[in-house]
Amino acid sequence: MFTIHTDPLHRIAYATDASAYREVPQGVAFPENEQDIVYLIEAAREHKTHLIPRAGGTSIAGQVVGSGIVVDISKHFKKILEINKGEHWARVQPGVVLDELNLALESYGLFFSPETSTSNRCCIGGMFGNNSCGSHSLVYGSTRHHVLEAKGVLCDGSIEVFKEYSIRELEAWFGSRFWEKEAHTLIQSIYAQLIRWALDEKTVHLIEENYPDKSLRRRSCGYAIDEVIEDLHNASKPLEDRTINLCKVLAGSEGTLAFITEIKVDLDPLPPKEKMVVCAHCDTLQKSFLGNLVALKFHPTAVELMDRNILELSKQNVEQQKNRFFVQGDPASILIIELRGKTREEIDTIADQLETALMENEEHLVYACSRVYGSEISKVWSLRKAGLGLLTGMKGDAKPIGVIEDTAVAPEKLSAYMADFAQMLENLDLSCVYHAHISTGELHLRPIINIKEAEGKRKFREVAYQTALLVKKYKGSLSGEHGDGRLRGEFIQLLYGDEVYALMQDLKHCWDPQQVFNLHKIVDTLPMDSMLRFEVGQKYAIEKDLRGKDGPSTGSGTCHTYYNWKAAFDECKVEGATGAKNQLHALMCSIEQCNGAGDCRKSNLIGGTLCPAFKVSGDETKATRARANVLREILTRGWGSEAFAQALNKDKNLLKSKELAEVLDSCLACKGCRSECPSNVDMTRLRSEILQQKYDVDSMPLRSFAVSRMAQVEQLGHLVWPIYNLFASWQFSSNIIKRVIKFTTERDIPTLSRVTMRKAVQRECRKYHDHPKGKVYLFADEFTNFQEAELGLTFAKLLLHLGYKVEIPKHVESGRAAISKGNLKLAKKFALKNVNLLKDIVSEQTPLVGIEPSCILSFRDEYPDLVPAELRPQAQQLGRNASLFDEFIMREVAAGRITSDDFKTDKVEIWLHGHCHQKALVGTEKTVQALKLLTGAKIHVIPSGCCGMAGSFGYEKEHYQTSLAIGEMVLFPTIRKAVANADNITPCIVSAPGTSCRQQILDGTGVHAVHPIEILYRWMK
Ligand SMILES: Cc1cc2nc3c(=O)[nH]c(=O)nc-3n(C[C@H](O)[C@H](O)[C@H](O)COP(=O)(O)OP(=O)(O)OC[C@H]3O[C@@H](n4cnc5c(N)ncnc54)[C@H](O)[C@@H]3O)c2cc1C
Repeated sequence: MFTIHTDPLHRIAYATDASAYREVPQGVAFPENEQDIVYLIEAAREHKTHLIPRAGGTSIAGQVVGSGIVVDISKHFKKILEINKGEHWARVQPGVVLDELNLALESYGLFFSPETSTSNRCCIGGMFGNNSCGSHSLVYGSTRHHVLEAKGVLCDGSIEVFKEYSIRELEAWFGSRFWEKEAHTLIQSIYAQLIRWALDEKTVHLIEENYPDKSLRRRSCGYAIDEVIEDLHNASKPLEDRTINLCKVLAGSEGTLAFITEIKVDLDPLPPKEKMVVCAHCDTLQKSFLGNLVALKFHPTAVELMDRNILELSKQNVEQQKNRFFVQGDPASILIIELRGKTREEIDTIADQLETALMENEEHLVYACSRVYGSEISKVWSLRKAGLGLLTGMKGDAKPIGVIEDTAVAPEKLSAYMADFAQMLENLDLSCVYHAHISTGELHLRPIINIKEAEGKRKFREVAYQTALLVKKYKGSLSGEHGDGRLRGEFIQLLYGDEVYALMQDLKHCWDPQQVFNLHKIVDTLPMDSMLRFEVGQKYAIEKDLRGKDGPSTGSGTCHTYYNWKAAFDECKVEGATGAKNQLHALMCSIEQCNGAGDCRKSNLIGGTLCPAFKVSGDETKATRARANVLREILTRGWGSEAFAQALNKDKNLLKSKELAEVLDSCLACKGCRSECPSNVDMTRLRSEILQQKYDVDSMPLRSFAVSRMAQVEQLGHLVWPIYNLFASWQFSSNIIKRVIKFTTERDIPTLSRVTMRKAVQRECRKYHDHPKGKVYLFADEFTNFQEAELGLTFAKLLLHLGYKVEIPKHVESGRAAISKGNLKLAKKFALKNVNLLKDIVSEQTPLVGIEPSCILSFRDEYPDLVPAELRPQAQQLGRNASLFDEFIMREVAAGRITSDDFKTDKVEIWLHGHCHQKALVGTEKTVQALKLLTGAKIHVIPSGCCGMAGSFGYEKEHYQTSLAIGEMVLFPTIRKAVANADNITPCIVSAPGTSCRQQILDGTGVHAVHPIEILYRWMK
């Protein structure tokens, strides 16, 4: 029997989704098979609670937030059961992720066509529940149009298959004209109700009159009674031949009618490869509504909108900055118009005509067009898809809020609807962000509201109400794809009228009389402004528990945080507050950047770094989102949270809570979230701040203390290095050390180089007198200096040979280990010392260049917020001039001082694994470019995320297996395959700039990886 988790960690992690709502559930279950679900349904009935089916948890309207038991099927219902290539269908379990299904279908030349922006983590079950669709809904429609069949469990525990049945078939089971008689089973009464409605002219008329425009391709509002009874009242067919498929109404029913365990979906052939997007730039939003109508005449496969706000936000996102390349000038909006065809010429001809129609008309609808082809197109879509995430990640308490974000009206009515909408916003004194699926009349409209304030909360309701009135006026749908949840349910009655709403209530009652499934969603919802994630006038429970005393001075007293959070979150201010209070508020804002969109739930099949702990476990409580949820809950509500209702010792300092320790413990501090999370949630930084705060009230574990002072230990050890090395490598003594500091005995402790890098480089430098290309300061980071001095010397030799003067300036260690172990008091000392020692000598002309990415990047990423505020500008300046080895080399290539002529042309295969901090902050492109200086080199970038070692994480006893498992996801198998396939003629080299990555590769595969510098040096002429 499986467990229902009722511990605070699970309850907090599942108290939210990607919506504005929060409600702590009674528990969380992870069923493994259909019988488990039947058992859960029985238990729910017995204990008078309800089940909330949940997949990826990316719903925006609070569909998976509730007080009952959350049943997460994303963990065990992940199988693709059958693919039928000939008949174009697939049978899957509901927890299969959309992108993963499409990856599996690629080799069949097929795909599941409704596509959400959340395709890399949302599941087919969730898409079915919400009737999801995406940018290409113009061509492919929504999930409802593609579900052929589903299997599920009804509230009485009966397992049913829902598919198209004729009345004849149903009568064979339930008896002639069974809908006129008393039902003997639940499923019989479900069919009977719908047939009765379909055969009753008055009901059919009522539905036709009150449902949204039939032409609207996007409708996810209320129960789709109109769709499910459509064929039943088709008078042109004999009654017994008419059909009904309950999947039509199950699609979009948001887990309120049945628990789905299998879904059979139809598939489309992969679209023609040849495509292009025309990015049409408009100088007003109104022009884009008209431009859309022009574009639709050219049969595009998609037309999407991005407004200026999104384009502006994308400038601040590390990942999206590189995807804005097609933007010309400062458009009010851009229409992304996708064209597909058999040949490039064919599409170009259409694009010519389209551009002429858009630009050369009287209204000059468009002022510029960029055409994007081939692989670059995915960058445009990536920017467009990131839009919603970018928006919700806007800094500050006022956020573009999801409240009316999903309205759809017929495209030809869009312009008039939008004019009314703009007027309404003006009356409410609100501004709005516009984007998304303009081709189908759906725009994601997000007014910027601070719902932490009473006035903001009032506007939250008012704007929803007034928009519902407008949507009714234009016969649109309040939800085009996101569903109703607890957000829009309240307005369904207004939109559809009392009688249709009563039908919907009857439908729910017929399917689920005992209210077992997802209570208070779609019908009988709670007020839309109840159970919000943020409360008006929210206080911070943590305030009294923070002890940090030597945080950065803000000029108005001592701050109680260690990082200067306010510097990055200046928008977050407490009216009238200064210093510490504002710092705490800024820290909270940084946590609240997480909006639950769930980008941290990507699996290793999808790629990227974020989030290794989730990737390897598939466990929501180990995702960055759960960390943010737990931090927010503990820091704001603390012991007052319903999740802690049973907690015995409520006087205990909140920082000592078990839940906090658990979520922080699973984080590898890889910084994947820093760039891959559209809201830039920086969990690595949050983690180290909270750890230090915790250590202030609780003692720091010996291991954290030892690791953060490792460089000092090595410095002392170096005085007696043979003895140190003997101790570190002799099994008996090294095992004692490992056991004391709780390291695994499976890995070797690094030994020390005979001569430090500093000394070795100094000696080497004396041999060179001619330095025509300028001076470079080398940063002798603590890892290279003591453990890999030879590598440091190699870099110096490379630079000296290329004509640079090399000097290692006076500096202390980077503090990287201290930062990652949460010893921020120590890290701040190192940061302060280094900034003071280097600020006056390092400049653009004389940069500081580093070998180990994580160390040198601390100058750029952490130092400015660790040093006192008055030193911040100098720290930032130093950070700008502190470069990774590859950044420096490519800078010099750009200046013409290094060329490929400096290197040999022999053939070599290089398999590159980038460091996760490097990937997050600067990317690996420059490493690749630097290696391409070897003209005979073929470079393969390994699509790995974090290697799994993450500093000391992989050495730690309890993390050792996880660390190896992370390596096994992509990195190790790729390396093994590369090495096995290598021929004996061309050298095959595995390269990794990170020291712990190299160790991990060695431990996991037995292959000695080298630093890219060593490759460049070896192939130097
Ligand atoms: C940034 C962002 C962008 C988005 N973009 C889009 C978009 O482009 N298009 C779009 O359509 N949506 C979009 N969404 C909304 C959301 O991602 C989709 O609705 C998605 O399909 C939900 O899938 P999920 O796996 O996360 O489902 P969940 O949120 O877990 O669940 C969705 C619904 O399905 C029900 N459900 C789940 N599993 C079952 C089951 N086994 N049996 C019965 N009911 C079940 C749940 O109860 C719930 O009501 C976006 C959301 C975000 C945060």
